[in-house]
Amino acid sequence: VVITQGRYIASAVRKDQYPERELPEIVFIGRSNVGKSSLINSLTRIRGLARVSAQPGKTQTINFFELTAKLRDEKTGEEEGRKDFYLVDLPGYGYAKTGKERRKIWKKFIDEYLLTSPNLQFVCQLIDIRHEPMASDVEMFQWLVEHHVPVLIVATKADKIGKNARQKNIAAIRRALGVKEISILPYSSVKNEGRSDLLDVIRETLV
Ligand code: GDP
Repeated sequence: VVITQGRYIASAVRKDQYPERELPEIVFIGRSNVGKSSLINSLTRIRGLARVSAQPGKTQTINFFELTAKLRDEKTGEEEGRKDFYLVDLPGYGYAKTGKERRKIWKKFIDEYLLTSPNLQFVCQLIDIRHEPMASDVEMFQWLVEHHVPVLIVATKADKIGKNARQKNIAAIRRALGVKEISILPYSSVKNEGRSDLLDVIRETLV
């Protein structure tokens, strides 16, 4: 899969601000500062598509990016055409400085989006590979599972730890989430590691 085009479409704080065009949606979610913007930029190879910000917790909107993927069967090399889809960037959760009231409003808005989007393919939930998942990560994950939203866990900043620690930490994430068999994809936006695996998952949902 190659992302050939990408552009910012809309930011929504209300339902009527969602884009009109119906396209498959692939959603990215994670705590502030987990590396979500960096991953989106690395994945699409479009620099600055999602802002990499030094101010965590600032974006409180659902951001839609319209991307075009050129699909190719990895085994046969056969071209499978082009597909447009939305990459949906959800605001970071678990930011301590966000007040309780705002957090509640935010949660309601996000939950509503996740439960009502007719075209949602899967949610990519990002968790920092270096740390045990926080309570907010576990809550988010369990909420997604409970509501039957397909979720892929991506462990970010994989370049920051050695190979041995990586396996250990991935096991710890699995344990904290309370699931034994879930596959967790390590990703480094600095080295673009995990990129082709993630693009493969996206391809599978688009064909
Ligand atoms: P966001 O708040 O989740 O969008 O996180 P950002 O993408 O803004 O990243 C937060 C910080 O982590 C920034 O200083 C990034 O440079 C850094 N970062 C993000 N991804 C990686 C990664 O894969 N490797 C390393 N070493 N640093 C990263």
